[in-house]
Amino acid sequence: MNDTEFRSGFVGILGAPNVGKSTLLNRILAYKVAITSNKPQTTRHRILGVWTSPTAQAVFMDTPGLHQGGGLLNREMVNQALSVLEDADLILFIVAPDRRGPDEDLALETLQRQDKPVILALNKVDTMNKADLLPWMDELNRRLKLAALVPVSALKGDNLDALLTEIVRQLPQGPRYYPEDTLTDQPERLIAAEMIREQVFRLTGQEIPYATAVTVEAFKEDRPDLVRIQATIHVERDSQKKIVIGERAAKLKEIGTAARQNIERMTGTRVFLELFVRVEKNWSKNPAALKRFGYT
Ligand code: GDP
Ligand code: MG
Repeated sequence: MNDTEFRSGFVGILGAPNVGKSTLLNRILAYKVAITSNKPQTTRHRILGVWTSPTAQAVFMDTPGLHQGGGLLNREMVNQALSVLEDADLILFIVAPDRRGPDEDLALETLQRQDKPVILALNKVDTMNKADLLPWMDELNRRLKLAALVPVSALKGDNLDALLTEIVRQLPQGPRYYPEDTLTDQPERLIAAEMIREQVFRLTGQEIPYATAVTVEAFKEDRPDLVRIQATIHVERDSQKKIVIGERAAKLKEIGTAARQNIERMTGTRVFLELFVRVEKNWSKNPAALKRFGYT
């Protein structure tokens, strides 16, 4: 093969919250770059993941889940998702049987208004009756012009080869944008912030998720084998601060321990993680705060 046959491009991942975008991306990259959660809306930052084979390179752009509903924060997320489409060579649209309804409709309507090729991954087929699969595939094929439709299970890793084959088929000829061993070009400190936020979601109740941002104030490689991190968890109300800290700071300790272990896996060093919790009243309705936390 000569160089001119190499295929490459940007793949925008689009779908409703909780369809399995992060799980699929992580599975394809076999590396934890996008955070996963059983609560919606956990991917607010755009995280680039890079998949490289001998003949192709796909640069994945993870977007916030398209999500119907009011509020400034949700609007910003839709805008962010839409801006991904502009930069993409093709779109990987993900749906799931347990996430059908208005959010799926919103994603479909958005996709109808653009003309990039769309590959549809029908995820979580491990949870479905085979008999329900075909009518749903038919319906989606009717509603959207698709380059390919591939049923997959991101969780079990089923049919991901077929999905990657279709993705490569749709990529234009192009250069290897990133070195072969690149998995993400996001700074480690941003990934560290996402990993902390993931544990806040995982370890606290219903009230917390929509109102949490994490900033990393310091990320210092003190020694080759030790990274020192200072980070702040921003919440909107005193009551939320209490929840995140917990009785005798037990919850915050639990969050810190779990996040530290994941960050250590990423950096390959020991990590000293210091966490602070701060109340910023109603930040998710404040454009300046949204900007500061990286959402616009
Ligand atoms: P995102 O919001 O679209 O990024 O969704 P996530 O990747 O965070 O996944 C949401 C939930 O769906 C998590 O609990 C995942 O474990 C689950 N999930 C993702 N893919 C599959 C799948 O193929 N099968 C099943 N059964 N569950 C899945
Ligand atoms: Mg996600």
